[in-house]
Amino acid sequence: MSVQSQSLVVAKFGGTSVATAAQLRKVAAIIEADANRRVIVPSAPGKADAKDAKVTDLLYLAHGLAAKQQPIEPVWNQIAQRFRSIVRDLGLPLDLEPVLEAARERIASGQDQPPDYAASRGEAIHGRIVAALLNAEYIDAVDVIRFDRSGRLDPVTHKQLAERCSGPGRFVVPGFYGSDHRGEVKTFSRGGSDVTGSIVAAALGARLYENWTDVSGVLMTDPRVVPEAKPIAEITYRELRELSYMGASVLHEEAVFPVRQQRIPINIRNTNRPLDPGTMIVAERDPGHQVVVGIAGTKGFTVINVEKALMNAEVGFARRVLDVFDHHGIAIEHMPSGIDTLSVVVADKQLGNRLDEVVEDIRGAVRPDSVTAHPGMALIATVGQGMVRATGTAARLFGALAKSRVNVRMIDQGSSEQNIIVGVEEGDLATAIRSISNEFA
Ligand code: ASP
Repeated sequence: MSVQSQSLVVAKFGGTSVATAAQLRKVAAIIEADANRRVIVPSAPGKADAKDAKVTDLLYLAHGLAAKQQPIEPVWNQIAQRFRSIVRDLGLPLDLEPVLEAARERIASGQDQPPDYAASRGEAIHGRIVAALLNAEYIDAVDVIRFDRSGRLDPVTHKQLAERCSGPGRFVVPGFYGSDHRGEVKTFSRGGSDVTGSIVAAALGARLYENWTDVSGVLMTDPRVVPEAKPIAEITYRELRELSYMGASVLHEEAVFPVRQQRIPINIRNTNRPLDPGTMIVAERDPGHQVVVGIAGTKGFTVINVEKALMNAEVGFARRVLDVFDHHGIAIEHMPSGIDTLSVVVADKQLGNRLDEVVEDIRGAVRPDSVTAHPGMALIATVGQGMVRATGTAARLFGALAKSRVNVRMIDQGSSEQNIIVGVEEGDLATAIRSISNEFA
């Protein structure tokens, strides 16, 4: 019997969920509670508390030491102790020593140039512990997750996962890595176990991809700004993308794509509060009364306004302005336009110290009546499917901002109908988010 079935749930557990023996006991209870949770994707142990280190960070450190031909022991011993104490506290009949020794030897040899092998050992070793705890079969991700020459996921991955995860029982596939076209270990970018979980769920045609973490779902807005922010019950993949783009961080950016193609929902859950329903990320939702699902904002933008009478009649005007940014290798964020004005919003990270040059080049390129730059801007995305069409949403949004005396410097209502983006002074960001959140919570 193959594990592929309509009821299959793939459960990924993040670093804090698997940080200690006590956390792993919670994981075991969650898995035991539902027979459909048959494929488990663990991260490496994360921080047990604020002062603790993430095993993955320590592994990068050990790799760096070996590359400089320095002894890795001080760091390695910390890593090894971490795993040993978890095995001991759980009372598992598992001899980790050969696995630890093989990893230590290869990392210490300094033979690897990219740090991928070293970095992946957190998941590779912890996966064995999780498998022993859950009485599950351990499947090394290097054997099933394959990248092609250009670094994209090789379609053979789906076949290999389906073949290996067949038969009764449970399977553990460690997150964060696979192998390249030569069979060498290759990791995703940081936080990439989320992507592994999504690939595994898609390959096995799972009913649900559960992503277990330490919060009870995606919050409607930043809890540092709005402490009473509540988790979102349901959000579409697309809405989540808009929120993440503007700074809300829950899942790895690339984690949505594999499951999205097959419309497999993602459920963000809290390992420390397993009864909380969390957030469901779905292909479609009925907006009902919840027109606005979330609000996210980030500082660090500059708006460059270009004005010229009758610019609309000048063929190629916008292209010539954009060519200036192209020429400087600067990616732009937004380009709202009005009659005789065109604004370009750029992230300060992109702009660096080239603002004066860019303004000068725009003057040369399109001979405008004026070019003005407004640094120190923050952008806020108010996100909700169909909100642009819902009568009165914009009025409520701008009414709330006006009541709090926030000066709106730019508005961009994307044609996606998923959001309204406003630009405000950086100093107004928190007030603006609070007032929008009060209006729509
Ligand atoms: N352990 C890896 C990291 O810390 C991957 C992950 O946890 O998702 O980035």
